[in-house]
Amino acid sequence: MSGYLLAAAGLLFFLAVLLAVWERRRTARTMGRLEKMLDAAMNGHFSEDSFDETRLSALESSLARCLTASRQSAKSIQAQRDQISTLISDISHQTRTPVSNLQLYAQLLQEQPLPPQALSCVQAIAVQSQKLQTLIESLVKTSRLETGILALHPQKAPIAPMVERAAAQYVPKAEEKGLTLRLESLEGQGVFDPKWTEEALCNLLDNAVKYTPAGGTVSVTVQNFELFSAIRVSDTGPGISEAQQANIFGRFYRGPGVYQAEGVGIGLYLTRQILEQEGGYVKVESTPGKGSIFSLFLPRE
Ligand code: ADP
Repeated sequence: MSGYLLAAAGLLFFLAVLLAVWERRRTARTMGRLEKMLDAAMNGHFSEDSFDETRLSALESSLARCLTASRQSAKSIQAQRDQISTLISDISHQTRTPVSNLQLYAQLLQEQPLPPQALSCVQAIAVQSQKLQTLIESLVKTSRLETGILALHPQKAPIAPMVERAAAQYVPKAEEKGLTLRLESLEGQGVFDPKWTEEALCNLLDNAVKYTPAGGTVSVTVQNFELFSAIRVSDTGPGISEAQQANIFGRFYRGPGVYQAEGVGIGLYLTRQILEQEGGYVKVESTPGKGSIFSLFLPRE
């Protein structure tokens, strides 16, 4: 009797082992097929090739539906992006000529003998049309950056030449205003797009020179950290309160005390966009009444 029991137990054990091996193989086959499906989906070659009643086949058809839907939404995103791109270039092309004409006629009028009131009106037209041109150019740039139409090309390079190029553009303005523009230690390397980072730095220099009263100092220095190199622009201007610091990087934000100064409130917004696109960031530290430090953090690798 015990011999039969032993044989039955042995048989059961053998069957259990057989079942386990079969189950293991089935799981391995399912995993292999899933892996192939995902690889094909990632490479864009996925097609449904089993139409049986298994759960794997149901999964395959769900994946096929999901991929079709995501392909369609990618297509419609691309179509929207193309539309925006066309709209932006239409706006920039169509407004260029009338704005230039406005500036030209204002200039011609200013050369005429005009009564003082008419002259001040013409000067106002010239200033406003210049502002309109800056605004349109900035809007075109920001929307191209936002929509990814304009791609940046960051590359590893020394920072000093780019800082020197940017600062050189502000030497006459600083001198005219009676400001000291100082370049300190500029040693360091970073990964950045030279043209666009120069534009970001010019926005900071423009603000520093614009908002710092005569007799003040604007200095630029580079500080190297483990992961980032920071280009710091410090000024001895009016400073920015903590409440305002939260807003200054917003589109069209202008501080309450600056409406007399030229500007449209887009410089810092554009600066932040540029830095984000190249994997860096921009930071402000300021003490009202003492000055501000704006820093562009560029990745080092
Ligand atoms: P804009 O200079 O055309 O007003 P920005 O986007 O460059 O626009 O700056 C936004 C606001 O941040 C400014 O209106 C000003 O209030 C403040 N700001 C920027 N830079 C400075 C600075 N260096 N010193 C004091 N305030 C500043």
